[in-house]
Amino acid sequence: PSPSKRRYSITLLPGDGIGPEVISVAKNVLELAGSLEGIQFKFHEMLLGGAALDVTGVPLPDETVSMAKQSDAVLLGAIGGYQWDNNEKHLKPETGLLQLREALKVFANLRPATVFPQLVDASTLKREVAEGVDIMVVRELTGGIYFGKPRGFSTNENGEETGFNTEIYAAYEIDRIARVAFETARKRQGKLCSVDKANVLEASMLWRKKVTAIAADYPDVELSHMYVDNAAMQLVRYPKQFDTILTNNIFGDIISDEASMITGSIGMLPSASIGKSGPGLFEPIHGSAPDIAGQDKANPFATVLSAAMLLRYGLGEANAAKRIENAVLDTLNRGFRTGDIHSAGTKLAGCKQIGEEILKSVDSQV
Ligand code: ATP
Ligand code: MG
Repeated sequence: PSPSKRRYSITLLPGDGIGPEVISVAKNVLELAGSLEGIQFKFHEMLLGGAALDVTGVPLPDETVSMAKQSDAVLLGAIGGYQWDNNEKHLKPETGLLQLREALKVFANLRPATVFPQLVDASTLKREVAEGVDIMVVRELTGGIYFGKPRGFSTNENGEETGFNTEIYAAYEIDRIARVAFETARKRQGKLCSVDKANVLEASMLWRKKVTAIAADYPDVELSHMYVDNAAMQLVRYPKQFDTILTNNIFGDIISDEASMITGSIGMLPSASIGKSGPGLFEPIHGSAPDIAGQDKANPFATVLSAAMLLRYGLGEANAAKRIENAVLDTLNRGFRTGDIHSAGTKLAGCKQIGEEILKSVDSQV
């Protein structure tokens, strides 16, 4: 083997529903794009979610955790389905995914919202507003109000029931997510908008202060700040003003869903969750879509684009990532569409055929 050949070990977690179908496509695309760039992959397919529950009785088996931790990156399909919906909380497929994120310590969630030129009419916004939108939301994933303590239920002085949560961020948590966002913005258009509620919340005041200070280390990135209520409005008014958005856990939860709907096509959107070191977790934003599972109808583009994110943000292999992204655009340009994005004048294709067309597009790039 030539010494210049880069080798990576990838844990594949097909999961449930359409997961195995879309992972199979993404695996082939990774393999081909990698080989054209001098990269060799070793894939390890492991159990997660309902698929793991059925075989092992738990949604995240120990072997899956240890394999994931040992590998260079993890690519996930989707988890969940009706048949496990009545399970106890700790035996739900979704619990397995939360545990995996925790085990991998992935504190940064990257979610692009891209309006593909070929799919502009799928957007919920008018063509002239939607055209050209390409936003990356960087969301803090392991802190803030979703994890803050104290939390719980109590009774107030009037004997009235209360529920309470705590929005809390330590400086180191803000520092590490902000650095991921600045690095991300640097690889994109160099514009970063930090979204907070610093006019009301102390955690946001500290957030804004820290982000502003860290900006000194990234003079090439143009930083702005926006209150979350305004950001929510601006996203649907004129989304093209945004390049990279940095925000906390709860605001990011909401903002990233809002941004994804601008694109109108859940089957096209990937995501990345990364930590300080160690493997990142890459997955489409859609769920297991049990209604179309096993029928070769699933749109594999979101998972293929997650594989591209794996290359760019997980392995630092930007050239191979670009190859895959270009192949996706080329396949769309050649008119191939799954049912969820199909429109008059385009060619309706199944998951497998789309996979083959993407491979052709990868292959035909010089
Ligand atoms: P989860 O709770 O895991 O997010 P969900 O039920 O909220 O799952 P999804 O599984 O993401 O939602 O999908 C909702 C619907 O969108 C599906 O039932 C399916 O019809 C469609 N859908 C989602 N993903 C795809 C895809 N990749 N290709 C085609 N259709 C999809
Ligand atoms: Mg859902």
